[in-house]
Amino acid sequence: MYYLVIGLVLALGVGVVALSGGWLKTRAGSAPERTAVQEAPLRLAAGPLSRTELEQRLTRLAETPPPETLSTGAKCYKPAMPPKTADYVCPKDGSRTQYSLEAEDGHSMIKLLQFQLPAMRRMLSEVVGLEARLDESEFCKKCNPGRKDPQLVLVVTLPGDKPGQRKEHRVRGLGFEDVKLLQELFAGKLAHEGDYGRETPLKDHLPRLRELLGFEPQAKQL
Ligand SMILES: [Zn+2]
Repeated sequence: MYYLVIGLVLALGVGVVALSGGWLKTRAGSAPERTAVQEAPLRLAAGPLSRTELEQRLTRLAETPPPETLSTGAKCYKPAMPPKTADYVCPKDGSRTQYSLEAEDGHSMIKLLQFQLPAMRRMLSEVVGLEARLDESEFCKKCNPGRKDPQLVLVVTLPGDKPGQRKEHRVRGLGFEDVKLLQELFAGKLAHEGDYGRETPLKDHLPRLRELLGFEPQAKQL
C-alpha cells in the first residue's frame, strides 16, 4: 500500500512536469522572428481576412521599417540543365500538354512546370488568412485549345465587410515570386527572399502585393 502511494505521487509529479514543459514549449515556439505583425492578434483557422483587414495589414507593412540586415544570397550557383520537354497534366481532365525547350519562352515554361508550379500550389494552399487558388487552365490544350502564350492566373476570393459578401479577383500572369510575396506577407515577414536567397525589403514589393490582392497599386494618402 505504501509503495502504491509513492508510485501514485511520482506518476502525478511526472505528469505535471510533462504538462507544464509542453505548455512552456508551445508558448516559446509561438513567437516567430522578424515579423511585422507582432501586435496583431493571431488568426488561426479563422477564415480569410476581410478587405479592411487586408488593407490594415498592407498599411502596417508600409509603416514598419525593413530589417536592418538583409541577406545578399548565395554568390555562386550552377543552374541545373532543364529537360528538353515537360508535360503539363491537367488536374481537371487528366490530359497531357507537352511543352518544348525550343519553343519561345520554352526555358521559363519548363522551369515553371518542372519546379515552380508544384511549389506554388503548395505554398498558396498553406497561406493562412487568404482564400486563393491557381487557375491553370490556359496550360491545358483540352481546356483551352489553341491558346497562345499561356499564363497562370491567380484567383483570390475576398470576403466583403458585410456578412456573406464575396468578391472574386483574378490576376493573369502570375509568377513564382508573386506567390512567395503573398506567403511572406501573410507570415508577417518584413523581407522578401528572391532568387538565390537574395533578400529585399518586403515593403518594396507593396505595389505588386496590392495588385495581387485587388487593391489599387498605391495606398490612398490620408
Ligand atoms: Zn484540362
